[in-house]
Amino acid sequence: MQYKKYGKTGKDISVIGFGGMRFSKQGDGYDYDKCAEIVIKARQLGVNYFDTAPNYCEDNSELIMGHAFKSMEKGFYVSTKSSQKDGSKLRAQLELSLKRMNLEKVNFFHIWCILSMDDYRSRMVKGGAYETALRAKEEGLIEHIVFSTHCNGDEIETIVNEADFEGMTVGYNILNFPFRQKGLQAAYKKGLGVATMNPLGGGLIPQKADYFDFIRSSGDRTVVDAALRFNASHDEITTVLAGMSSVEEVVQNCKIGDNLKKLEEKKLKEIEGMLFNSMDKLCTGCRYCEHCPKKIPVSKYMLSYNNKILKNEQEVLNNLNGHWGIPPSGVKECIECGICEGKCTQHLPIISRLKEIGVWEDTL
Ligand code: SF4
Ligand code: SF4
Repeated sequence: MQYKKYGKTGKDISVIGFGGMRFSKQGDGYDYDKCAEIVIKARQLGVNYFDTAPNYCEDNSELIMGHAFKSMEKGFYVSTKSSQKDGSKLRAQLELSLKRMNLEKVNFFHIWCILSMDDYRSRMVKGGAYETALRAKEEGLIEHIVFSTHCNGDEIETIVNEADFEGMTVGYNILNFPFRQKGLQAAYKKGLGVATMNPLGGGLIPQKADYFDFIRSSGDRTVVDAALRFNASHDEITTVLAGMSSVEEVVQNCKIGDNLKKLEEKKLKEIEGMLFNSMDKLCTGCRYCEHCPKKIPVSKYMLSYNNKILKNEQEVLNNLNGHWGIPPSGVKECIECGICEGKCTQHLPIISRLKEIGVWEDTL
């Protein structure tokens, strides 16, 4: 496993980090022993950054991680999060996370999921999230305060330069990199560590392996290898979080971390150039647009719409009717309130896309 410095923290972090959001259920619940085996295997293969959060895997992820940590030798780092704006609620959540994972401190504690600049400012108010985290750091309960965000590059740049975070976690992949690149560069310049999540674009990259085949370089067995290598080749990125749901996936991902040959700058630019035109148009499946007042499953419609952008229009209908079991006509319930667009991390024109989908059943 290769390691990189996480900003100015002095910590060497594995280039592949463990994303704790993809544990699978066995029947009605999670088999903690089986899930812990996956975490332990990753540690054995050199992974030392373990990312979890309250609510991941129906609120089981922290407990699974805690179960695994009991059998792991020291020398690994734990990342967890709170999206609470209120200081006392954040404190309570931090204490619960520590208890669930049987830890004395969290190494990387995220002010979680900053969606907009207003949201960011609401975390920084007196007595709010950031200040409470700072107090917990002084008490030794937190080692490094970091943030995670779905903001765009300009907004990230402002947060990085205004506040005193030591690192950040952002969604970054071959599908959305232009949206956040400026923020990444700002973080690197200021000496922040950077973890990237969602490197496979919500599963779209492996699903459209043929389409994305051009990103493969010699040595990449699959587009998954290539997509992970794309992220890991950035100097700005310390660790690439890969959600791992089986020991086999751990082994495969760790091979990439073992044999990582950085892409040459020329190849990186070539890939970026080829991808640039469509990158900011695709849905990444992050699901922040949920909770529509008309109960429209927006992310499913938008993920299906990706197929149109990827020149596979018929697949949109197959996807909706077959894969999701939702009819295109369901979009007609939309009252155009704009709530989903306001929350969309990719700033997609959701309402107009829904309208297009609404007529496809007749036209495709
Ligand atoms: S704009 Fe339409 S799809 Fe979006 S939240 Fe409002 S009703 Fe739902
Ligand atoms: S439409 Fe936007 S918010 Fe919803 S899943 Fe796609 S990218 Fe995320």
